[in-house]
Amino acid sequence: MTFTTDAIVLKILKTGESDRLVTFLTRDRGVLKAFAKAANRPKNKLHMATNLFCYGRFTFYEGATAIKVEECDLNETFFGLQSDIAKLSLAQYFNELIIETAPKETEANEELRLLLNSLYFLAGDQKDRRLLKPIFELRLASEIGYMPSLIACRQCGAFETDPMYFNEETGELTCCDCHEKGAVRYPLAVITAMRHIIYSELGKLFTLTLSEEHIPMLTQASEKYLLNVVQKKFKSLDFYKAVCE
Ligand SMILES: [Zn+2]
Repeated sequence: MTFTTDAIVLKILKTGESDRLVTFLTRDRGVLKAFAKAANRPKNKLHMATNLFCYGRFTFYEGATAIKVEECDLNETFFGLQSDIAKLSLAQYFNELIIETAPKETEANEELRLLLNSLYFLAGDQKDRRLLKPIFELRLASEIGYMPSLIACRQCGAFETDPMYFNEETGELTCCDCHEKGAVRYPLAVITAMRHIIYSELGKLFTLTLSEEHIPMLTQASEKYLLNVVQKKFKSLDFYKAVCE
């Protein structure tokens, strides 16, 4: 049986003489692994299309025990990611997060749109990568069912006080009067940015701006919350931090 769907390459592993085992995020079937026969040979028709971050319309053959890549109509390579080690490692972190959290064997349209948009802004230098990271992390947490609860103070319902307190383990918010033990103090501007990330429509998601002094706080809140949700360490994240510090 063959099927065709939009897909992006998340990871490649050389296997056998010249084959590749490729991990994809697909629109219709979520994260899947497929063999690309002879794709490690430069002249093979799948060589280009099964490089990291290549996006296009892929046709797969599903056999009894494995899935094979048949062909690809390549759309985008995100070539701009290759020029800068910080961009590349951040993009690899995005890929690792997707592999860990996106659905399998079912549609993953929202996750695919989020990844494609994030890579587009990252590759083209269209957005400060220090904002792309929290945008991706918090939005992904929301897409996979762990949207933080940021509408109002969980105790008294106050919508806005400055500061507010965010609990990085539960994803809950309290105001400056009700703040709970364990919740971390954040300026309202940071909470407003987090609200933008989780509640705005995708078309407006990347319009987020934040003052220089608040960026590290947004970075901390989103990373801690996401890692609490996912419960895993990511080598690519350690590497990204190492090259950026
Ligand atoms: Zn309150």
